[in-house]
Amino acid sequence: MCHDLLNDANLWRLLSDLDHQIAENVRSQGCACGGVLHSACYPRKPRGVARDLLGPDYERRLSFCCNQDGCRRRYTPPSVSYLGRFVYLGVIVTLVCAIEHGLSAKRRERLIKQLPIDRRTLNRWIYRWREQLPHTPWWSVLQGRLSSPLLPEALPGGLLGRIRGPDLTTRLAHFLMLLMPLTTTSCSYCPRVTIEPQKMQL
Ligand SMILES: [Zn+2]
Repeated sequence: MCHDLLNDANLWRLLSDLDHQIAENVRSQGCACGGVLHSACYPRKPRGVARDLLGPDYERRLSFCCNQDGCRRRYTPPSVSYLGRFVYLGVIVTLVCAIEHGLSAKRRERLIKQLPIDRRTLNRWIYRWREQLPHTPWWSVLQGRLSSPLLPEALPGGLLGRIRGPDLTTRLAHFLMLLMPLTTTSCSYCPRVTIEPQKMQL
């Protein structure tokens, strides 16, 4: 199932569309100095998914630079595709860690073999979810939104499991939207984007 989803071009298109919506929102706000934001993308070579499946949108991370001399401030909008400086796309990190939760050692090894990651990478991701994220302001804000507390050791599968939606693609997209504040350090503005009219339920 994980494999099928990662090979679904619709998922990558949806996330790319959302990133463009988010970026356009950030660009339209302009710079704090009053300047205009111009495109200044970062090149990216995401790992784990075939390039022809992802398309050219995934070869760059959308980013902007103020046009005013003396300012030139950089704004990298939040993203549902890129988790900060991870070379793997956010959806891969999320899915693999979510699936890993509760697997026996044997099935875990099988999962690692099937996917383009190694055990050390997986362990690093799990550590970040469960040991580092719970110490961030993001975690406190998130806990306030949940109907009942979520234990850090249940991340990320426990959080994904609380998100309702018509299918896993939509639920994942909502999940990644929750993570948006963690995906950039140069832009504190986090626009609201929508996939569908109904309110996200946690
Ligand atoms: Zn500026």
